[in-house]
Amino acid sequence: MASATTNSLIDTQWDKVSGLLRTEIGEAAYQSWLKPMTVREVRDGEVRISVPTRFMRDWIVAHYVDRLSTLWNGEDPGVHTVDIYVQPERHHGTLPQRKPDLRESVAAPPSNTGSLSEADRSELSAPLDPRFTFEHFVIGKPNEFAYAAAQRVADAATVPFNPLFLYGGVGLGKTHLMHAIAHQIRKSDPSRTVIYLSAEKFMYRFIRALREHKTVDFKDQFRSVDVLMIDDVQFISNKDSTQEEFFHTFNALVDQGRQIVLSADKSPSDLEGIEERLKSRLNCGLVADIHATTYELRLGILQSKAEHMGMEVPGKVLEFLAHKITSNVRELEGALIRVISHAQLVGRDITLESSQDVLHDLLRANDRRVTIEEIQKSVSQHFNIRVSDMHSARRARSVARPRQVAMYLAKQLTSRSLPEIGRKFGGRDHTTVMHAVRKVEDLRENDASFAEDVELLRRMLEG
Ligand code: ADP
Ligand code: MG
Repeated sequence: MASATTNSLIDTQWDKVSGLLRTEIGEAAYQSWLKPMTVREVRDGEVRISVPTRFMRDWIVAHYVDRLSTLWNGEDPGVHTVDIYVQPERHHGTLPQRKPDLRESVAAPPSNTGSLSEADRSELSAPLDPRFTFEHFVIGKPNEFAYAAAQRVADAATVPFNPLFLYGGVGLGKTHLMHAIAHQIRKSDPSRTVIYLSAEKFMYRFIRALREHKTVDFKDQFRSVDVLMIDDVQFISNKDSTQEEFFHTFNALVDQGRQIVLSADKSPSDLEGIEERLKSRLNCGLVADIHATTYELRLGILQSKAEHMGMEVPGKVLEFLAHKITSNVRELEGALIRVISHAQLVGRDITLESSQDVLHDLLRANDRRVTIEEIQKSVSQHFNIRVSDMHSARRARSVARPRQVAMYLAKQLTSRSLPEIGRKFGGRDHTTVMHAVRKVEDLRENDASFAEDVELLRRMLEG
């Protein structure tokens, strides 16, 4: 016997079902996809829901319909399917409308089947850091080429090179440049779809699509994008099926004249676990590397960041940081923030001393210029003793003096603490190191040729 559920009961059930799904998928997706739905009838175990466009229908069928029927079944065990059909909107009022302002709730209906709606985009694309713009990017020798290439992509009406492959060590600005491209394009031409996501997320989504048997949707989503940016593609390596999918998506996009921007920590040729054909395809576009920072660039970045933060930081401190924190820009930025927030917290001016203090651990990590081992080796050679004597218990002056010099230089040239230095010299006590430092200082003042020796060693080690 055919059965139809009454309107008021449908309303109650729909309120519950859509409420549950709303908490699952979040407000943005709810507004875009659930709100525009109109439940037309529930008959013979089937819920019939209309939506205003085909595009919406396809999306909902691909993403939400299974969940909808499960939830509805929870409310009404008689329900086993949910059918979504297209009912283009006509004039207001001619249809029995549960949702009065349907049109308003549809998030930017796609102008053509090839472009993504705002909702799809925000589903696919990771959020952009608002500070990662071209204006905030400081240009120097190590990054000028990558910067120019990124700008070219952002400004071009047609694809200048495909893909743009940015590579460089960690913390050197790859992600910053990619976000800058996205910001610029979204600003100058909002109709273009720019998707930015990490390779990890790309993989995750692909694997999920595989599991849910939705790889076709997966492909379609990415293939309807104007600019696709995938960050840190070294993570795609060795994941065979993802790599395969990536390759196909990549080829399809390139063939359609869409722009692709990729980043990695290595050049395409050096990427491990990536198939040759993919490598050569990656090499076909423009490969731009970001080199390690120079002192000038680091100083420039510090000045720019301090200015953006509206902070007066003494030039001496900025120079000190640019000199000492050489690893990457992220650490450099972190150091500046620490120095500034410390000063604000204790309510004192930023000085060289306070900066050294606040950053001592970071400074140590960056202090890779001279190691204690190098010092021990040079000093041993200079005084013609064995390196093992640096660790030995021998007290003869012929070895004890050079050992003291090495301890002194370790104190001067590295940021190791006295106990750490002691440990490196055969597990000696920190007071022994302290004594050595004093002794050498003393001798330097009173013995010109000794002072010369030490100075020579120091210059050799620093150079
Ligand atoms: P990567 O992606 O290469 O690991 P990021 O793009 O995340 O590095 O950069 C790390 C941090 O350093 C970010 O806060 C970024 O804004 C900053 N940064 C890197 N290069 C520059 C630059 N040339 N000018 C200004 N900030 C930079
Ligand atoms: Mg990055």
